[in-house]
Amino acid sequence: MDNNQSKIRSIHRIVLITIALNIFLLLIKVIAGIASNSTALIADGLHSGSDVITSVGVIIGMAMASKPRDEHHHYGHEKIETITTFLLSIVLIYVGAQIGYSALSAILRKEQVLFSYFGLFAALVSIIIKEIQYQIAYRVGTREKSAALIADAWHHRSDALSSIASFIGILGAKFGISILDSMAGFIVSLIVIKVGVHIFKECFQELIDVSIHLDEVSNLKKIILKETSVKYISDLRTRKHGAKVLIDIRICVDPTMDVHQGHEIAEKVERIIKREIENAKDVIVHVDPCKFNIFNP
Ligand SMILES: [Zn+2]
Ligand SMILES: [Zn+2]
Repeated sequence: MDNNQSKIRSIHRIVLITIALNIFLLLIKVIAGIASNSTALIADGLHSGSDVITSVGVIIGMAMASKPRDEHHHYGHEKIETITTFLLSIVLIYVGAQIGYSALSAILRKEQVLFSYFGLFAALVSIIIKEIQYQIAYRVGTREKSAALIADAWHHRSDALSSIASFIGILGAKFGISILDSMAGFIVSLIVIKVGVHIFKECFQELIDVSIHLDEVSNLKKIILKETSVKYISDLRTRKHGAKVLIDIRICVDPTMDVHQGHEIAEKVERIIKREIENAKDVIVHVDPCKFNIFNP
């Protein structure tokens, strides 16, 4: 529980900083956009404002996911984080599509980007802040194993990339190359969509109880057979559960063992699994008496 609470606390802190920075970006971009008559910059600023909503979503999702098991959810609430991340990935794909759409329509309308130092400055500030947000969120997300925070981090980076596109576009306008902005925007949209689809797929797998890496499974089997008197493992099932892993194993042991000895082996198997599998949340061991010697030639 303590571990969980410190995880939530550090994620809370990151997300609150993110919200404050996004409000700052909202103000600076909208003011710069109005000053330099750039609808792109105003739209970008409003986007930063809407990012506050996804950040609030991360906080709510994390808080709900960290609740311990209760009467109705016997395996805990970790999947709420997966669902939060799933929704964030859809937002990310939408953001990517939006960037691509506005880039394409700007090309079709032969839109002219106006050069202004204020606009250039606002884009630069946005790149720096968004990249810092990415770095912080990605690091904390990796450390705390929070898929939702990592997805939010990728959102920050996609925003940084779209600001780079704005920066290139505004700079291009100074040298009379107005199409640069739209081309950069289009490339950015492809990158953002790719990241969004990747996160979407991962979450989808988690929602349908994907196993851990198969190498880890076969390695685990080897270790159990080596370190215990288990004769045969007839089934070993793993499924990801948010950042945690649930494991069911069916072992077969010498049929002449008494209940005490069988229990001891089961406990040992559980200890090995919890030692070997990072974030093993729950291990169920089923003990069978070995009937056939073919399992143990
Ligand atoms: Zn965004
Ligand atoms: Zn519940």
